[in-house]
Amino acid sequence: SSQLPDATTNMVCGYCSTGCGLKIHLKDGDAINLSPSGEYPVNRGMACPKGWEALTVLDAPDRATTPLLRGSNGKLQPVDWHRAMEEFVTRMKSVQSQHGPESAAFISTGQMATEEMAYLGALTKFEMGMLHGDGNTRQCMATAVVAYKQAFGFDAPPYTYADFEESDVLVFIGSNLCLAHPILWERVMRNPHDPEIIVIDPRQTETAMNATQHLQVAPKSDLSLLYGIAKILIDNDWIDHEYIDEHTSDFESFKDFVQQFEIDHVAAETGIAVEQIHRFAKTIHSGKRVSFWWTMGVNQSHQGVRTAQAIINLALMTGNIGKPGTGANSITGQCNAMGSRLFSNTTGLLGGHDFTNPEDRTKVADILKINESNIPNENSWAYHEIMEGILKGKIKALWIACTNTAHSWINQNQARDILSRLDFLVVQDIYHSTETAQLADLVLPAAGWAEKEGTFINSERRIGRVKKVRHAPGQALSDFNIFRLITKYWTKDKTSNCGDLFDRWASPEEVFHSLKEISRGTPCDITGIDNYEMLDEAGGIQWPCSEQCDDDNTAGKQLPATERRLFTDGNYYHADQRAKFIFEAPRPLSEPTSDSYPFTLLTGRGSASQWHTQTRTSKSAVLRKLYPNDPFVEISPTDARRLGIQENDLVEVVSQRGSMTAMAFLTHSVSLQQVFIPMHYEETNKLTDSVFDPYSKQPAYKACAVSVRPS
Ligand code: SF4
Repeated sequence: SSQLPDATTNMVCGYCSTGCGLKIHLKDGDAINLSPSGEYPVNRGMACPKGWEALTVLDAPDRATTPLLRGSNGKLQPVDWHRAMEEFVTRMKSVQSQHGPESAAFISTGQMATEEMAYLGALTKFEMGMLHGDGNTRQCMATAVVAYKQAFGFDAPPYTYADFEESDVLVFIGSNLCLAHPILWERVMRNPHDPEIIVIDPRQTETAMNATQHLQVAPKSDLSLLYGIAKILIDNDWIDHEYIDEHTSDFESFKDFVQQFEIDHVAAETGIAVEQIHRFAKTIHSGKRVSFWWTMGVNQSHQGVRTAQAIINLALMTGNIGKPGTGANSITGQCNAMGSRLFSNTTGLLGGHDFTNPEDRTKVADILKINESNIPNENSWAYHEIMEGILKGKIKALWIACTNTAHSWINQNQARDILSRLDFLVVQDIYHSTETAQLADLVLPAAGWAEKEGTFINSERRIGRVKKVRHAPGQALSDFNIFRLITKYWTKDKTSNCGDLFDRWASPEEVFHSLKEISRGTPCDITGIDNYEMLDEAGGIQWPCSEQCDDDNTAGKQLPATERRLFTDGNYYHADQRAKFIFEAPRPLSEPTSDSYPFTLLTGRGSASQWHTQTRTSKSAVLRKLYPNDPFVEISPTDARRLGIQENDLVEVVSQRGSMTAMAFLTHSVSLQQVFIPMHYEETNKLTDSVFDPYSKQPAYKACAVSVRPS
């Protein structure tokens, strides 16, 4: 029949960092449907609703099919690519010549292919002279990056997914794995060791409901709890002296530091009973293979880096790292956050290198055959510093690619005001309807996942392929080809600053080969990956995979093992090869509750069927059915009764920055004087506060003060 596929190909999903393998079924070379891959080592035949619906959302009527330019009537009007490119180049160059090359900046993403990120980073910084560019990964993973770099000497999540099945104690901190990473949760459910599952979260999340111990901490008191646990482990001598002596530094000062965390005080601060705290510590001690997992509840905090490091400290002091079923493990958010972290030229120079290190600049310049002076010798501003730069009139042009700032950025009313101050805002997206695209002067229509080639890197450092299995609608181009077109127009009347780099980078795979060379000798060395085909054959390959990498377990083929973890020899990436204990006194919440704003607002993922700002997932009728279209707020029945609020009443939630209307959902999942609103709704970030971790500069979305009243 004409409905039956005539071929199948494999690629990874384009939503979350789990990186599930999907089989794409083709008819005459075009995708007609998909199913989860049974052989891929990540998901083993499973996919969540977003993955199942991944092709559907590409057919939405609001796909951007042509460039759009804001006309003199203030409306976005279709134009052809030539006009769009002329406009892009003329206006960007005009801003740069008036205000300096650094007055143009970019914001990118954790959703594009690694090769596209690298091209964008090279084009903007090495060719166009931009200094400032950041990614939406600042909103999700920056904290983990800094925590790992400081503790291990490199941004290196140490685990492999098999660890979910090999632990006998799994500790989840600020992670609602059950909804946010449902396939990873399925892996936990397949753990044959009848594990203890401990959840630290202020909400009784779906994950907490399935835990053997739930420590329902007061918001942002997790850091004190983790230090208190460290004290109990030390006081009882439940620590691994040999591991500490041989592989770590600064333990003695950490030991002295945690003495101040008397358990009575920790109990009072966290709201967790003394016995429960002791039980948690004892469970860690009794576990043979203890793994610690964290996500946004830790990362999106005013003290996220130190909290992540407090988790790392527990793994180090108990020797729970580098062995099956162990680790201090950050689970990433987006499908290619790891690619962005290492290869986007935003937080660091390509390949985990450092813009401020002259040797790194020389190395990258030599490999790319570009003049070293084209590589900036200072770091970019972080996302919020770029936004502040706009407010101060220092940034005049902004190019936003593949993210929805006007919905997702913290303190949204202020964010939209800031974007409106730009002389030139370019938005590159697959939909013209996003809140950010609606504010643009120029919209560039992009191809989506499955409409282009490249690679993603998932949470366990596995590089997987994405492929073009359908045509982008209208005139939409892959991000890669948009960047190439911009290069062509940018260098039309002049020689490229980068010699023939962009001629050589004619395809994503050419970029991949350059990135391999750049990675040579680094912790994320991928020189052992011959080509894209090898990724297909191996079922994705985890870094590091150097040319010397010969841990072959695949009969007859020189392919890397399917599951690989870091630090199996106890050697870390600092010069002394030791991991560092890093700690600091906890700081109070920047916006505590008050008489006027007596509730703490918690935000987070509301459903396994929705993704971020719903840009894509709201296009699927199936996914919409799985999730309320209108905002809801979780509030405890006791608080609701006190305020005269009934189930399903509309209520107004107000912070110092804005307000929103939401339907009341009375539930015991939130504690008294706390409310929860999912991040997927447009209005949620009208309430959140511009507070950032001082080291990672990641926004603290998780806790601000609000009031609630009947609408
Ligand atoms: Fe895609 Fe993540 Fe769902 Fe897997 S769990 S199918 S990677 S969205």
